[in-house]
Amino acid sequence: MRKIAMYGKGGIGKSTTCQNLVAGLAEKGEKIMVVGCDPKADSTRLLLGGLSQCTVLDTLRTEGEDIELEDICKVGFKGILCTESGGPEPGVGCAGRGIITAINLLEQLDAYSEDKNLDFVFYDVLGDVVCGGFAMPMREGKAQEIYIVVSGEMMAMYAANNICKGILKFAEAGGIRLAGLICNSRNVENEREMIEALAEKLGTHMIHFIPRDKMVQQAEINRKTVIEFNPGHPQADEYRTLAKKMEENDKFAIPKPLEMDELEKLLIDYGIAA
Ligand code: ADP
Ligand code: MG
Repeated sequence: MRKIAMYGKGGIGKSTTCQNLVAGLAEKGEKIMVVGCDPKADSTRLLLGGLSQCTVLDTLRTEGEDIELEDICKVGFKGILCTESGGPEPGVGCAGRGIITAINLLEQLDAYSEDKNLDFVFYDVLGDVVCGGFAMPMREGKAQEIYIVVSGEMMAMYAANNICKGILKFAEAGGIRLAGLICNSRNVENEREMIEALAEKLGTHMIHFIPRDKMVQQAEINRKTVIEFNPGHPQADEYRTLAKKMEENDKFAIPKPLEMDELEKLLIDYGIAA
């Protein structure tokens, strides 16, 4: 079983990309579990045809400790298993802690046990590595491969670099590796070249460039992935290509985070000066 985490700035397209690519893997017969690690609890919405009504933390609050796996793990598109950590009530408690609680509970409930024959588990993790909770999937071997979703915008690249600093911290002890950057295009000039250059500097590769396409939002309004909503659309093929590249990926690196001035130079060389 491959354990994969998707990281990236908030709003960059982690959940959209993760669900679409997982749908692409499921189409090929892979058995997958998605664990949403974001208090928004929308990491599995497109796979379940709507928001999950029972996040791990909500269920713990209402049912107490006596929880069955079926209470928190729902079956979505093509048999994909879907779980959402959820979050504390707004203004109370720490969201990062919630993720730790959720992942520990999943392990206690044998969510990843051999008899489920899982090929992949995906953690879709909120934003930057801001606190221990969000670094949780990187620690203690919860995830082995990290993909960073990024675009050619400064803040997205800044967040990607920060995430690399987090990976570096856990790579030596925990064996986790950076497996690639996924460029989710924002139609920035020279975006592909810039993200390829960023990837090279970080010691990794840009595994795929996903175009920006209105079909993504159209499918989203219908609570579906593009792969389910419009399987013949070129955007669905982009996600299938990403899925195939991830299946075949063997480029796992310990990242080399950049200094701030190096990051700025990239933007100047590729973006602003172009
Ligand atoms: P995150 O999980 O990183 O916070 P989301 O996956 O929720 O981000 O995406 C944020 C918004 O961007 C969504 O409304 C989604 O429809 C849109 N989006 C993501 N990727 C694309 C794309 N390739 N083309 C068009 N819209 C996209
Ligand atoms: Mg998300």
